Amino acid sequence: MNKPLRVMKFGGTSVGDAACIARVAQIVRDASRQDAVVAVVSAMSGVTNRLIEAATCSEAGDRGQVDVIFAALRQQHETALNALIHDGERRKQVAARLEKIFSEGERLYQGTALLREVTPRALDAISSLGERLSAPLVAGALSEIGARSEAVEATELIVTDSYHGGADPLMNRTRERSEARLLPLLEQGVVPVVTGFIGATEDGVLTTLGRGGSDYSATILGAALSADEIIIWTDVDGVLTADPRLVPDAQTIPEISYREATELAYFGAKVLHPKTLRAVEQAGIPVWIRNSFAPERTGTKITPRGRSNGGGVKALTAIRDVALITVGGPGIVGVPDVVGRTFSTTAQVRANVLLISQSSSQNDICFIVAASDAKRTVEALRNEFAQDVAHEKVEHITLDPNIAIVAVVGENMRGTPGVAGRTFNALGRENVNIIAIAQGSSESNISFVVAEKDMKVALAATHREFGLSARKPAETVVTRS
Ligand code: ADP
Ligand code: ASP
Ligand code: MG
Repeated sequence: MNKPLRVMKFGGTSVGDAACIARVAQIVRDASRQDAVVAVVSAMSGVTNRLIEAATCSEAGDRGQVDVIFAALRQQHETALNALIHDGERRKQVAARLEKIFSEGERLYQGTALLREVTPRALDAISSLGERLSAPLVAGALSEIGARSEAVEATELIVTDSYHGGADPLMNRTRERSEARLLPLLEQGVVPVVTGFIGATEDGVLTTLGRGGSDYSATILGAALSADEIIIWTDVDGVLTADPRLVPDAQTIPEISYREATELAYFGAKVLHPKTLRAVEQAGIPVWIRNSFAPERTGTKITPRGRSNGGGVKALTAIRDVALITVGGPGIVGVPDVVGRTFSTTAQVRANVLLISQSSSQNDICFIVAASDAKRTVEALRNEFAQDVAHEKVEHITLDPNIAIVAVVGENMRGTPGVAGRTFNALGRENVNIIAIAQGSSESNISFVVAEKDMKVALAATHREFGLSARKPAETVVTRS
């Protein structure tokens, strides 16, 4: 292909209703006048949550509630269809495709209700329906404004392992399939509109890449097709210095490195799925984050190396749905291999450990896991250390769910001494108690554990301390001649 190739992903809010989809169609059509474009779309906002909620109802035998949710979802998609597509023949075609997907959904819920069980495989099939419904709508909207387009299900393109609920791509197979299916379309000037979030195993069993995984779909396809750039269109101006819902004066970061963006995503910055940049690491393809509601703004460019801001700290993030587990007490010094046994236990229960901190006296090991993993992790640890607790060698295994992690991220913190000290001071001034602290050896992230009730204050204080807030007009020096 002689034109540059752009993969453009649109998240749930960007395709939230007919007006949003119409805006998306314009962005794609305009770009496709010069470049080859592959669009990747999420489900309309809220749809995946509703589908999963219906699965839970179905498992509980509440068929009535499933019907209520399904009726609302039908209504939502039909309203969008009617507002977007006026050509009679085209509307009929898209309506038939939506109907087919809804019927498939009905059957999936019937099966679940019958068994009163939702297996991970069934849950993937159910939660994929949202993307499968939105792609034909977006493709239809594009055709409506004169851009030839075709909806493509990513089960035809992205070959994954069979880890339901969080599958990973098999890149060689994905490359072969994507090239074979998408390049002919692109060569004919057709815009493929691909379902985000989903893939399929080699045997054709549908998988999902994990919640929020459409970002990952975009980079997987970008890498598979050796795209020139990937643009993730969302509802904010780019990667900001903090979550704007928590820190209202957060600023857009013009350029950030793969590593910084990954650290932010890993510690809760929802703007990017944590695995997003994995797929493009080797090829070094730039990834843009831009606002589909304000396409005139430049957004954030994520590049392999990023750009130094000179100041070390680039952004903050916070993660709330986590719990602190402590294994300890003075007796722990005498127990051999407590650390090894602790973490082989977390591995056995497949708990995702986000942060580890151990005091040098070895009195305590504390670590953080996702809230959803906490209960079973503590139970497994109590089991593992039952003998030691009985003999008072291990004094306590405790769980504190009311905490949050605040992470300070910046690649150049490596050469900037005093980041931890400044954070301590800033939090001290606000009377925020730091429960634990961890710094990775890469020094691009220092994480603090604080009480959940202190999280917002901690973010605001640190944001100010590192000069990440916008300058207020009063602080701007105006020189008059
Ligand atoms: P999409 O539906 O487009 O995938 P998401 O809701 O998954 O969008 O992600 C965008 C949201 O991420 C923003 O609305 C914002 O509230 C949140 N967010 C959290 N941290 C950040 C950050 N550092 N920069 C930008 N947005 C952030
Ligand atoms: N629709 C999926 C979700 O809500 C994937 C995504 O939006 O990225 O998790
Ligand atoms: Mg998202």
